[in-house]
Amino acid sequence: MFPDASPRVFLVGAGPGNPGLLTLRAAEVLAQADMVLYDQLVPERILDYVNPAAERMCVRELPGQHPDKYPHIHTLLIERARAGQKIVRLKGGDPLIFGRGGEEAEALRKAGVPYEIVPGVTAAIAAGAFLEVPLTHRNYSSAVAFVTGHELPNKPGNPLDWKALAAFPGTLCIYMGVAKLPVIVDELLKNGKDPATPACIVERASTGEQRTINAPLAELEEARRNAGLESPGLIAIGAAVAHRPAQSWWESRPLFGQRVLVARPAHQAAGAIRKLEQLGAVVHHLPAVEIREPADPAPLDRALAQLPGGWNWVVFTSVNGVHGFLRRIETLGGDLRWLGSAKLAAIGPKTAEALAEYHLKADVVPTTFNSEGLAAALVPCVANKRVLLARANRGRDLLREQLTDVAAIVEQVTVYDQVDALEADTAILDHLRRGEIHFVALSSSKIAENLLRFFDETIRGRIDRGEIRLVAISPETGRAIRALGYPVAAEATEFTSDGLIDAVVKLARIAD
Ligand code: SAH
Repeated sequence: MFPDASPRVFLVGAGPGNPGLLTLRAAEVLAQADMVLYDQLVPERILDYVNPAAERMCVRELPGQHPDKYPHIHTLLIERARAGQKIVRLKGGDPLIFGRGGEEAEALRKAGVPYEIVPGVTAAIAAGAFLEVPLTHRNYSSAVAFVTGHELPNKPGNPLDWKALAAFPGTLCIYMGVAKLPVIVDELLKNGKDPATPACIVERASTGEQRTINAPLAELEEARRNAGLESPGLIAIGAAVAHRPAQSWWESRPLFGQRVLVARPAHQAAGAIRKLEQLGAVVHHLPAVEIREPADPAPLDRALAQLPGGWNWVVFTSVNGVHGFLRRIETLGGDLRWLGSAKLAAIGPKTAEALAEYHLKADVVPTTFNSEGLAAALVPCVANKRVLLARANRGRDLLREQLTDVAAIVEQVTVYDQVDALEADTAILDHLRRGEIHFVALSSSKIAENLLRFFDETIRGRIDRGEIRLVAISPETGRAIRALGYPVAAEATEFTSDGLIDAVVKLARIAD
């Protein structure tokens, strides 16, 4: 039935939640999958790595309550594999640590379906790193145990030997134990564990939502209740826990725990989202505008037909403009030689980098990355020259106005359409209404105008009171926000995506 032995099903660990902890192999197989069947606890951001054409299904959609789903999962994996698909079965952490990966592998083996298992960073290992608990330590922890807190304690056959666990010479990492914490503590104390043994509980380890409490074993449940910590969480018990710093390297990141809304178009948001996450933020993404090929490419095609020799300067005012322009040349059957000796201008470093991806060097990049800056840099260069401005279907006319008097010809041509998002993600608007988002990063006037149109009085109230802060990429975007009657908490000093992130970081520091 399977002519070659290449795997059809991939049992993949998604790690503890931070997308940076996905393995290279996991990212590779996600990008090649025809279908991804994922557990409910797999964070949404991990799904950004899935082949956009793949079918996605959460196990929640399968019939039955949790334990009854397994036969359905097995059947689905086997059927799809037999139909020739590549299926990724994606699970939180590691698939073989309390993930039932062993049972799924066995079902596949019995059915003769070739499979591969891709390990993931399990919760205990992530907690060790992101809380700075040395799970083993030469002086006070000679072993580490992964223990389930779920099978308790009067289950027939009693799978956990509490006497042995109480005497364990190292760190106990208890999964799925928060709901049964009183029983766990009781069993350990009854079996001789020192009530003063250092212990902690961590929720959402490795993410910007990581929360931790520390207490001696005997007081752990009380501390949990006071802090309102709920399932799921990982419990770590042992002398090593006492050696963690009050704030780990991760908890000290400048945006740790801050929630930031990014409103850039989908294909452009990835870099900013990753960067914010690395700074410790929880990122929400609501693309306020979309980028498309121009509805009418005829004017662009006419301008491109005149390229060899026809234009002395081609001016790019965005990364999208660069890609739109060069892709269109390719679509028309041309290549870089069409640009001939035309000089190139880029509005800022990111646009220049986009040109560099095509091995093109920007002859002019202004020191101030906006239309005014670009106009000032170009005016001395374009006297009596023929200038083509590659831009969006809408935007400011400033550049054309300022160059027209100097240049021989200035033509503005649409290389991509910017389209308003028709509706906003209601879950994200709810987060804003509840004040669960702290910063909104606005990277253009159009994005600001489109996003703010979805805001209601509740959200506006929170912005007015400074509970949600709007951060603008440039003075121009700031003006667009103020024109709509909203306060601007900060403007970037460098008008780039990185500059915008820096402005958020500065604000967060002041708030501390
Ligand atoms: N296969 C997973 C474990 C699944 S069992 C792994 O290897 O990590 C689910 C339990 O894992 C939860 O009850 C909790 O105890 C733990 N867990 C998973 N991710 C976690 C995280 N980011 N922070 C803390 N605990 C986590």
